[in-house]
Amino acid sequence: MLTIKAEKVKNYINGEKVESTGKEVEEVPNPATGEIIAYVPLSSVEDVNRATESCAAAYPSWSSQPVPQRARLLYTYLEKLKANQEELAQIITLESGKTLKDARGEVQRGIEVVELATSTPNLMMGDALPNIAEGIDGSIFRYPLGVVAGITPFNFPMMVPLWMFPLAIACGNTFVLKPSERTPILAGKLVELFYQSGFPKGVLNLVHGGKAVVNGLLSHPEIEAVSFVGSEPVAKHVYETGTAHGKRVQALAGAKNHAVVLPDCNLDKTVQGVIGAAFASSGERCMACSVVAVVDEVADVFIEKLIEETNKLKVGDGSKEGNFVGPLIREVHRQKVHDYIESGVKEGAELRVDGRSPETTEEGYFVGATIFDHVQTDMRIWQDELFAPVLSIVRVKDLKEGITLTNESKFANGAVIYTDSGKAAQQFREEIDAGMVGVNVNVPAPMAFFSFAGNKASFYGDLGTNGKDGVQFYTRKKVVTQRWF
Ligand code: NAD
Repeated sequence: MLTIKAEKVKNYINGEKVESTGKEVEEVPNPATGEIIAYVPLSSVEDVNRATESCAAAYPSWSSQPVPQRARLLYTYLEKLKANQEELAQIITLESGKTLKDARGEVQRGIEVVELATSTPNLMMGDALPNIAEGIDGSIFRYPLGVVAGITPFNFPMMVPLWMFPLAIACGNTFVLKPSERTPILAGKLVELFYQSGFPKGVLNLVHGGKAVVNGLLSHPEIEAVSFVGSEPVAKHVYETGTAHGKRVQALAGAKNHAVVLPDCNLDKTVQGVIGAAFASSGERCMACSVVAVVDEVADVFIEKLIEETNKLKVGDGSKEGNFVGPLIREVHRQKVHDYIESGVKEGAELRVDGRSPETTEEGYFVGATIFDHVQTDMRIWQDELFAPVLSIVRVKDLKEGITLTNESKFANGAVIYTDSGKAAQQFREEIDAGMVGVNVNVPAPMAFFSFAGNKASFYGDLGTNGKDGVQFYTRKKVVTQRWF
């Protein structure tokens, strides 16, 4: 097991670790034990300015390096990440609480985005069409934007930053990263490995902190674009403020993901799938399943089996083998989740599995897997994002009703159908409002070469992260029409 000496983490400016000028410092506990593992500075606007200046100074020479040369450095970075996989996973578990199995999965998903970024020479290619009129050729070229910034959440401390900076940098931009103040250690490690890969100083800068750093980035005149991933109210604020300052913004927000279970599903696989999607990573995933709409005909048998299997899940420190549900990120979040469970009971839902006093001897911020049956759409547990291992079950008469109820959610990130019927799956795909749709797939998170984003209140912006969307977001176009006499 990884042990870490609790130190104040440092910013990374111009390729060097530097002290933040911020006066305030927050403690970073290991959520499984409460033990303090680091101190994070709440950096100042002065730190934002220094990071941005460093990026701006590095931009002219970085952006003019040939694209294959930029991609080659990303190959080296890829190798460094692979060589450090296990340590990266252990840091994720230590600071976010998710189990080592989930952390290893996250490391792999992060690495896949760097693989994508190594193919930037292909991805950045424009289009060309000769002879669009007598003696005239047309073509499109892509160029980087300049200095861009990324603001990330606690729940994927590796994957989400890697959704952003490798592709942005491969496209020729320089980048300021503001990671979550609740998971700062891994961000430092990502930047350290980046500079060990040979990138020029100033291409990637790291500023730790909270609101003041975010607002400093949103109003900084030198920053062309902002990528954000986090909760819905903050995403909306980032989108509105960033665009008001003339920036391009993609803001991926909160979620409430639904599954629809039909009578013809493979029951055992569906139960296991829902358990994984709802309770792994303690439900602290933007793609976690938090509502199941199950058709009446199969509801009783599905729910009894789900409860039987859920009762087998072990709660405890994610670094120890066998534990399935790790801690929540902070004590205050655990309290909030307890309040939600209480509200579900008061509003009349039937609490079938109560995770408020899980069987564990550990001191962390644990809530066990929790299941409510007979949930209604006017209940807070149905409407709000709880970000916890709490599953709501609604009973519906058929697929149509399942789709209609799901579409009433203000969020529209992911949605999944469990069925053996191609026709039902086709209807679901056509009628469901969700950015990412699954058929018998527990968590329909797209691979890195597809884009990743939700709809409605789950996303503010036009272009998602990853894939072709990511390249378009981090580049601007010139359409050239030329004639030679
Ligand atoms: P958060 O919104 O609290 O924090 C995200 C970032 O915003 C952090 O860097 C934080 O420092 C900053 N921030 C927080 N409050 C701010 C404020 N008032 N003003 C300016 N900046 C502020 O989110 P979190 O709790 O770290 O992460 C969990 C949330 O992220 C969930 O809602 C989850 O659904 C969402 N998420 C979404 C996706 C997606 O792809 N849609 C992916 C991962 C997480």
